[in-house]
Amino acid sequence: MKKINMVDLNGQYRKIRWQVNREIKKVINTSSFVNGPIVKEFQNNLQEYLGVKHVIPCANGTDALQIALMALNLERGDEVITTNFSFASTIEVILLLGLKPVVIDIDPRTFNINPDLIKHKISNKTKAIIPVHLFGQSCRMEEILEIANKNNLQVIEDNAQALGSKYKFSNSQKQMSGTIGDIATTSFYPTKNLGCYGDGGAILTNSDNLAYKMRGIVNHGMYERYYHDEIGVNSRLDSIQAAILNVKLKYLDKYNNRRQEAALLYNSAFQNIQQIEVPFIESDSDSHVYHQYTLKIKNGKRDKLVDHLSKKNIPFGIFYPLGFHEQKAYKQDFSSDIDFPVTNNVKNQVISLPMHTELTKKQIKFISNTIISFFE
Ligand SMILES: *Cc1c(COP(=O)(O)O)cnc(C)c1O
Repeated sequence: MKKINMVDLNGQYRKIRWQVNREIKKVINTSSFVNGPIVKEFQNNLQEYLGVKHVIPCANGTDALQIALMALNLERGDEVITTNFSFASTIEVILLLGLKPVVIDIDPRTFNINPDLIKHKISNKTKAIIPVHLFGQSCRMEEILEIANKNNLQVIEDNAQALGSKYKFSNSQKQMSGTIGDIATTSFYPTKNLGCYGDGGAILTNSDNLAYKMRGIVNHGMYERYYHDEIGVNSRLDSIQAAILNVKLKYLDKYNNRRQEAALLYNSAFQNIQQIEVPFIESDSDSHVYHQYTLKIKNGKRDKLVDHLSKKNIPFGIFYPLGFHEQKAYKQDFSSDIDFPVTNNVKNQVISLPMHTELTKKQIKFISNTIISFFE
């Protein structure tokens, strides 16, 4: 059996190698390395794929979040609501911009922000909500939009882990995640569902005004060359990355289907193991694209399972070991009376298994049998 990896970027590359190499070579031959026509082409292709009016490519998913917040004309001390359980980018950019993070505990089933808890945290300083579609599953956007509309808040979806997932509204209408809020952001970091071969990101919006503003912000606040109307940043997607993304975007649905198939195989292997809770699907199967396949280990033995897997050379991930409220860099921004019972519980239960487009049935069987044998 092939060596089991957490992700298998090389195996995926080998299947599209000639196309990727050809497109990279084209960029080098034209020597249009920055803002070349290929970046525009990718922008248009992603707009079409998502059904969103504007895609603004940028350097990475963290920049995308920062630029989105910069576009909202917020003032120092304004409050931004986000989840307590995610990668650091969201809280990091909120703090960098001098804004106040208001952090919400999660839904224990999906690990996403719990909309039921948001209402109690809204003040007259609250200006925006950043829901993160964690592990590939869309948040409960219908409820989040309702709260946002009622309180005049802007919604920025962090779609870095869920590109290609479709959220289902209660009227059964489906919409691509990342096209639902006022703005959305994504990342093309290599291990993401649509990854390039370096760093990359994008901002998405249906608003002409916000798109105009953000196109300026990503380019030093220039709307006319060498005239700087506001303080911006330098955040670009380079042409070689755009060329690679153009090739890979054509396969994104197929790649996400592969992940969903792998998840179903894992699910059925674990169905009789009481101590394991497989990923909970909120609405329907299109709403989860399994950036991670994350189990909850219910009997307090997660760390023992970690040792077991390490001994058997099976890779795994603990996403995330701490909530933001416990991280050294941010904990002083939390008042002590705020409690995160769900995060505190879930952080000791989660374990993410190998999940990628190249996983074979045999590998999945080996991984799941190794886990099952631990509980028997
Ligand atoms: C990866 C990720 C980011 C950051 O993306 P980078 O391109 O690495 O800056 C932000 N949010 C979430 C949820 C992510 O998974």
